Amino acid sequence: MPLYGGIEAGGTKFVCAIGSSPDDIRATIRFPTTHPAESLRKACDFFRHYMREQHVTLDGIGIGSFGPLDLNPNSSDYGKITSTPKQGWAFTDVRGAVEAGTEVRTAIDTDVNAAALGEGLWGAAQGLTDFVYLTIGTGIGGGLIIDGKPYHGLVHPEMGHIALPHDLQRDPFPGNCPYHQDCFEGLASGPALEARWGQPAKTLPEAHPAWELEAHYIALGLQNIICVGSPQRIILGGGVMEQHQLFALIRQKVQTYLDEYIHTQSILTGIDDYIVPPGLGGKAGVLGSIALAMLKFGYQAAA
Ligand code: ADP
Ligand code: ZN
Repeated sequence: MPLYGGIEAGGTKFVCAIGSSPDDIRATIRFPTTHPAESLRKACDFFRHYMREQHVTLDGIGIGSFGPLDLNPNSSDYGKITSTPKQGWAFTDVRGAVEAGTEVRTAIDTDVNAAALGEGLWGAAQGLTDFVYLTIGTGIGGGLIIDGKPYHGLVHPEMGHIALPHDLQRDPFPGNCPYHQDCFEGLASGPALEARWGQPAKTLPEAHPAWELEAHYIALGLQNIICVGSPQRIILGGGVMEQHQLFALIRQKVQTYLDEYIHTQSILTGIDDYIVPPGLGGKAGVLGSIALAMLKFGYQAAA
């Protein structure tokens, strides 16, 4: 059984694992994201140590990273994080550092594309070819799978930075995206919730009006995503979606905003199975990174 490595490289934490499926995870490590050199060294040490102790070679390491990333294999910046505002991380060569530090071949994609792949292989999108994994946490980001493959296009989708209608009368909070102020992420990320309401999102009670407004923005975001990407299902993950009461609010608002225009039973009557939490829970990122390596290096899905 070939073994793969996975790195979920997040802005807040790194999670690394070795295995071949959710039922076969041989080792894991997690640590807070610090400086690039230190974080990437810790990740490489974990894989090197395992290979040395177990006398095995990994067939590949998948990296699902925060971004933006350069994913054009012909670019001199391929595999680098590019214009991130995250201190010290702009133009970090994540892929190069992992290959040099482990001597294992790598596959790299966005954190959300990796999570989407994992959900497709083992989670809430099994059997689907076209779907979205959207995370609502420190930031907002979406992975888009088209025809079974992560979609990149020119760069890669940046679903967190779409523009949404913002009624300043109803919600005077100006938004906190450093680039666009009141884009989707600027209005609806965890830090935006905290800035708007003056307390951490986690501490806002279930009945707080924050959640009605949050569901409104997420439903507007999904309306745009559904109209552009036409996904067969949307998986909503990330820390903010730990507020499970959001799901019912979002589903109902998506139906209201689309107003039966998109004529499919998935949305008209089956919305509970259309907008869903991740099947892999909090492990979607790291398992998805393993899936990324498996799909690039040899794994053949049983047809
Ligand atoms: P990251 O986006 O950094 O990978 P998460 O997806 O866990 O990490 O998102 C962290 C964000 O989610 C924080 O801004 C936090 O306020 C918010 N968050 C975490 N847990 C909860 C919760 N139970 N309820 C509401 N918001 C939460
Ligand atoms: Zn933005």
